Amino acid sequence: MVLRNNQKGIALVLALMVMLVMSMMVAGLMMTIVNEKKLSSHQSRYVESLSIAEAGFSEAVTRMRLPNTNGYFIGDTRSPLNPHWKTVIFNGAPATPTDTSSVWVQSIQSGMAATDQLAYSTESWSGGSDTVNALTIQHKTKGDSIYFRNKNDGTISLVKYNSTYPANCYPVEVVTSTGRVGNSIRTIQVEVSKIDYPVIVDAAIKSDKPVTIKGHFRVCGHNHSKYTPNDTPVGNSTIGECKGYELCDRTHDVCVAVGCLPGITTTGDAVVDKGSGSPSEFLGEPASNTDPTNVFYNIEQILGFEATDEAGLLAAFPWKTQTSGLVNGYVISNGDYTLAGNSNSTGILWVKGNLTLTGNQNFRGLIYVEKDCKITGTLWCLGAVIVEGQTIATLDQLTGTGDILYCSDIIQQVASAAGASFVRLNWRER
Ligand SMILES: [Zn+2]
Ligand SMILES: [Zn+2]
Repeated sequence: MVLRNNQKGIALVLALMVMLVMSMMVAGLMMTIVNEKKLSSHQSRYVESLSIAEAGFSEAVTRMRLPNTNGYFIGDTRSPLNPHWKTVIFNGAPATPTDTSSVWVQSIQSGMAATDQLAYSTESWSGGSDTVNALTIQHKTKGDSIYFRNKNDGTISLVKYNSTYPANCYPVEVVTSTGRVGNSIRTIQVEVSKIDYPVIVDAAIKSDKPVTIKGHFRVCGHNHSKYTPNDTPVGNSTIGECKGYELCDRTHDVCVAVGCLPGITTTGDAVVDKGSGSPSEFLGEPASNTDPTNVFYNIEQILGFEATDEAGLLAAFPWKTQTSGLVNGYVISNGDYTLAGNSNSTGILWVKGNLTLTGNQNFRGLIYVEKDCKITGTLWCLGAVIVEGQTIATLDQLTGTGDILYCSDIIQQVASAAGASFVRLNWRER
């Protein structure tokens, strides 16, 4: 009997041990499930925070692509470029930055409900809060030098801070963007540089018909800075005249390198200067080019479309239809156009009829006229004027002066509203 009782006891102990082992196994399994659940939500936050950092990068580049007259534009507009320039984007309204090289702006998200905002820009600055994780854009630098990328051959060079902007180069910009989801924080650093929009402009004044110049007309095909002040006349003085704003030194090799163009180009027809009183002046690389092998490009081709793709061009820019008035953006006139009074225009003016210009006009950008130009006021244009001409392209300057200064940067600026203009050079997670 004693033995039997002992056997019963062993069975109970064994049963208890089996139950213990089984409950340990169940507990272990449950812990694994809980851990994996934790792990997978951490992993999803980890992945999501990277996407949010990329969204921050997209805001930065979208804003860098805008014309600098747009309120959302981001970029270093100083001349020469400031190696210490830094734009910081905040979700809330930022205060004035403490250092003069920095610019603090609000995110395009700031108009959205807080719950809809992505956590890539930090909250409003309140004297010492988070600028470390804020979305920032700055030049790639080394000390006082800025890295530039040659837009033609892609080479990168380090240029010491000075007043000479290197030819055919755009600075390398570094966008630092931090995405946050819960406790997951990931920071990316992306290097980008501007590339040119494919514009075909090959003279300060281009015409498909014989050109008759009347009155006091001055044209300069050397490439000028986009910071050339209004009313700067064509001339040879380095102070106050256009020579002081040229990207070249008027020697052939430098002119070719910085993209200088002829003052006037035709497709073989003569340029007749009937100027009286003050003589007209034509400068450029060369001053004029009337080679019969020159090709005339229409506005579709100039702005990167097939010659017959008017629909494509119309869809690519936010054109407004006008028959008169100043140009602010992209203006198309299906007939004649009158620009009168005193006005400052920026953009592209596409006139399918004749252009009549009176008063005192400053124009930054591209003027394209399918018929003739009649200028009885004062025209100062930084960019280019293209006249298809009907039978003869008359630049009829009766009074005042006409100054046309070629500027590739202005043309790029107005044309880039239609397309991508940054190349991604480097991406890394910090
Ligand atoms: Zn000039
Ligand atoms: Zn030149």
